[in-house]
Amino acid sequence: MEATKEAKPVANKIKLGHVHFSGCTGCLVSVADIYQGLLKILDDYADLVYALTLVDVRHIPEMDVALVEGSVCIQDRESVEDIKETRKKSRIVVALGSCATYGNITRFCRGGQHNQPQHESFLPIGDLIDVDVYIPGCPPSPELIRNVTVMAYLFLEGNEEQKALAGRYLKPLMALAKRGTTGCFCDLMNDVINQGLCIGCGTCAASCPVRAITHEFGKPQGDLNLCVKCGSCYGACPRSFFNFDVIPEFESISELIADALR
Ligand code: SF4
Ligand code: SF4
Repeated sequence: MEATKEAKPVANKIKLGHVHFSGCTGCLVSVADIYQGLLKILDDYADLVYALTLVDVRHIPEMDVALVEGSVCIQDRESVEDIKETRKKSRIVVALGSCATYGNITRFCRGGQHNQPQHESFLPIGDLIDVDVYIPGCPPSPELIRNVTVMAYLFLEGNEEQKALAGRYLKPLMALAKRGTTGCFCDLMNDVINQGLCIGCGTCAASCPVRAITHEFGKPQGDLNLCVKCGSCYGACPRSFFNFDVIPEFESISELIADALR
């Protein structure tokens, strides 16, 4: 018997892209670590229109959502042009991972290495273009990437109620993008601990990928010689930007995302 083709489930898929600068591709591996959820997203919600690692499209196309990985070497003219092109051609620019958001390990670059010794200055993308949403983390969590992708879809293509909820969900990650391009344990010192806001919960220590944070007398202590300036600790701290629009809706948001991926 002849096999019948299944009907396409959703008409308006968004155009999703992954744009790679000075990153390690670990952020893209985190995208792949969404596993079945990624297949569902690509089946129903988004076409992957650009990703040099995965798709044979050579030039940056128009995108609804650009997931941008890596910082930008300002001595590399092509990269500087590409990040500007990305901004021009994308409705929503997401800085994916800590190199794109905060520079991360590339903050330590000083140049002088063969065979491009002049490649010495790397900037987070927010220093070169306006960024809409931050997903910090080294690597960023697959769950957060999945949620932002689904929420961006609902924000662009959902009904009024879904748009409003997606807007509330994305608000703190947009606020983070407005806040700046430096990430460090110092953020916790300056903006949480020194402000009398720390509750000693330990979330910062759990989120640090290099174990630069220990707890002494119930308060975090950071080893700045270990800190790779990823900004994860500040992003994870519940006293950094505790969004009261989103947290009370945790269950409805979880249900919405679970339904979307069923
Ligand atoms: S996550 Fe924030 S509130 Fe919790 S211990 Fe660290 S600095 Fe304090
Ligand atoms: S202390 Fe750890 S989590 Fe915080 S910025 Fe440094 S490396 Fe990242």
